[in-house]
Amino acid sequence: LTHFNPMKTLFKHIIAGALMAGSFLFPPAHSDEIQSKPNPLVLIMLGPPGAGKGTQASMLHDQLHIPHISTGDLLRENIRQETPLGKQAKTFMDKGNLVPDQLILDMLFERVAQADCAQGYILDGFPRTLLQAESLQTRLKGHAQPIVLNLDLADAQIIERLTKRVVCESCGTPYHLAYSPPKKKGICDKCSGKLIQRTDDTEAVITKRLKVYHDQTAPLIDYYNKLNILHSIDCNQPKEKIFSEVVAYIPKPSK
Ligand code: AMP
Repeated sequence: LTHFNPMKTLFKHIIAGALMAGSFLFPPAHSDEIQSKPNPLVLIMLGPPGAGKGTQASMLHDQLHIPHISTGDLLRENIRQETPLGKQAKTFMDKGNLVPDQLILDMLFERVAQADCAQGYILDGFPRTLLQAESLQTRLKGHAQPIVLNLDLADAQIIERLTKRVVCESCGTPYHLAYSPPKKKGICDKCSGKLIQRTDDTEAVITKRLKVYHDQTAPLIDYYNKLNILHSIDCNQPKEKIFSEVVAYIPKPSK
């Protein structure tokens, strides 16, 4: 026979009640919920060369403090350091062609796996093909919140912009010699680096890059539209006005 101990029974009931109330107030997280938890923002800057992806991405970086990742800048850094990837990529870039998908995907996914990207990041110049976009979606699914900002600009304006563009050799900040010149000629306002004209910003290569954009990258507008995450912005206006439209599409962090 076991002795009935009223105090022990009462204690057991109190513990059981507390556990039930706890699981009601704080339900156990499902494993999917844990993975998607901070649900970081992945901002995708889409648009033709010269639409202002780099400028807007850099302004977003200053405001949101998440990394600005430009595949073009990563490739140019590889070229400068004469890495095997840089040597391979240069032959495509000099002609205005796209660098093969697999090289880009390996390079980009290695970059976004770094710790500084855990709270989200801004993609500038990626994806540029349907295969790149699909690979990114597969990687992000359930772990991040992609938002696509499609910067829209007509071809004639692109040529006018790119032939007068100079960029900082060190930090990549772009300037337009007529519309947004640096304070000091040839010197970057941000880091005092040297301003240069990109070797692929000549009229012949720009024309090729535009064709490549229309053939291979513009179909992504439709792809992201169907996913309901595309926002288009007219880029034939001052960069501050474009920025205010861009920012309006970015969800505020939930508290
Ligand atoms: P950008 O600085 O974004 O204009 O890129 C300069 C060049 O780098 C492009 O014309 C391509 O040759 C190459 N590139 C940059 N990003 C990509 C990408 N996502 N896929 C393929 N090639 C790229």
